[in-house]
Order: sequence, then structure tokens, then C-alpha cells
Amino acid sequence: MQFQIECNTEKTRKVCLICHQSFQMLAARLIVCNDEGDGYGDICPQCTARGSDWIHHQLQEFSNQLLTIK
Ligand SMILES: [Zn+2]
Repeated sequence: MQFQIECNTEKTRKVCLICHQSFQMLAARLIVCNDEGDGYGDICPQCTARGSDWIHHQLQEFSNQLLTIK
């Protein structure tokens, strides 16, 4: 599980992977992807602002859920 920051020019709304709120994408988007570079989804600015430690903790739980589904 890793982050990618990409420049964004789209003005579409996305749903945050962590808090499930829909938000307007900003000029820089934070994308969560696996080690192969497949994107799981975007993280909203509010969650981004909580810092990488907090995000990592949330994503740990998220990847645990993925493992449970499998
Ligand atoms: Zn969020």
C-alpha cells in the first residue's frame, strides 16, 4: 500500500477512501495504490490534512478489510 500524488485538472467529485465523503478534487490529488501501482481511490483534503501517520493507520485497517474479503 502506498501513496501517489498526481497533478489533477479534472473538476469531478470523488468519494474519499477513508471517510467516504464526496469531495471536489483539487489540483493535487492523493491516490492510494498497491505495490503494483493499481489505484484503490482518492483521499480527501480533510483526511490528507490529518497527516501521513494517521492515513497509514486508516489504510492498515482498509487493507485488513481487503484481506478479509479475499
Ligand atoms: Zn476523507
